[in-house]
Amino acid sequence: MPRPYNFAPGPATIPDEVLIRAQEEMLDWRGTGISIMELSHRSEIFMQFLFDLEQKIRRLMNIPQNYKVLFLSGGAQGQFSAVPMNLTRDNLNTDYFVTGVWSDRAVGYAEKYCKANIVTRATKSNIPEKSTWQLNSNAAYAYYCPNETINGIMFPTIPDVANVPLIADMTSSILSSVIDVNKFALIFASAQKNLGQAGVTLVIIRDDLLDQAQDITPSLWNYQLQAKQSSCVNTIPVYAVYIMDLMVDWLIKRGGVAVIEKINQRKAEKLYTCIDQSNFYTNPVDKLYRSTINVPFDLPKKELLDLFLLEAKKAGLEYLNGHALVGGARASLYNAMPESGVDALVDFMQTFAHKYHG
Ligand code: PMP
Repeated sequence: MPRPYNFAPGPATIPDEVLIRAQEEMLDWRGTGISIMELSHRSEIFMQFLFDLEQKIRRLMNIPQNYKVLFLSGGAQGQFSAVPMNLTRDNLNTDYFVTGVWSDRAVGYAEKYCKANIVTRATKSNIPEKSTWQLNSNAAYAYYCPNETINGIMFPTIPDVANVPLIADMTSSILSSVIDVNKFALIFASAQKNLGQAGVTLVIIRDDLLDQAQDITPSLWNYQLQAKQSSCVNTIPVYAVYIMDLMVDWLIKRGGVAVIEKINQRKAEKLYTCIDQSNFYTNPVDKLYRSTINVPFDLPKKELLDLFLLEAKKAGLEYLNGHALVGGARASLYNAMPESGVDALVDFMQTFAHKYHG
């Protein structure tokens, strides 16, 4: 029996290929006779594995040599605290773009450690124009979330913050499209969307920013210390890192980021076309700011939404409910969601609209 298409926002769908490989390697990882979970994170074989994974990620994202790649615990919300703690020793002024729930929450965390100035706030349908932004040219950093997972708002381009170091929460967008890492001072993403399972957070940081940690920064979140100790200040979440490696291998095998980006664009186009042409489904976001990854949509009535979710589930299309804060429906189209899944969803949506329209 094929597994259902899982449109969940995270933890999210993982390719069968990856899960099957994990299953095959469960009892004996690389001829050690034990599972990777049972292996010391300080063993030579594991350290080599971690080094190789870092190199693969560097190649996939074209990460320059003056950036460190770290594998940390605490999820993306851990980074909501770690970023201000690590970057504001000499300057407590920071800039935040608030474009949805996650960047809003990041401000709440940051305010404990520094002064967070709001550059702009997104509406339900767009991000206000640059001419209205309140940027501080002396800020220690400017922070934004390229893709807001809950309301489905995406920056169409990287915001121009002049010479201020730019920080990006790429939790829901990492590796979904080609980016120029040079434009960023720091990128972070927890793993449970495009990088496998929860438990590890990827942090990519330009090395000139490593000496700005406040004294209160816990060792486990101190970027400089973690960089010196290959992300192993304490026991690294071995299995989450292992699944990340399998996801990275899967993406490399599919042709890398540029190839998956094209597929992702097609998937989003198909779904938005279906919504826009339906006269039944609605998406509140202006076209320019629409997320190509998390697509929220609504139906004319709550009863229809409930029926939609129920019938979708029966048709093998699961976890299409919107976030509790915004309601409605939402389809998350991460790298591992195949185009056939979107085709099946569009078919289902057209049939459903036809049946219940009016
Ligand atoms: N940022 C974004 C953009 C997210 O989508 C999420 C989770 N959905 C988070 C942060 C929080 O992630 P975590 O649960 O790893 O703390």
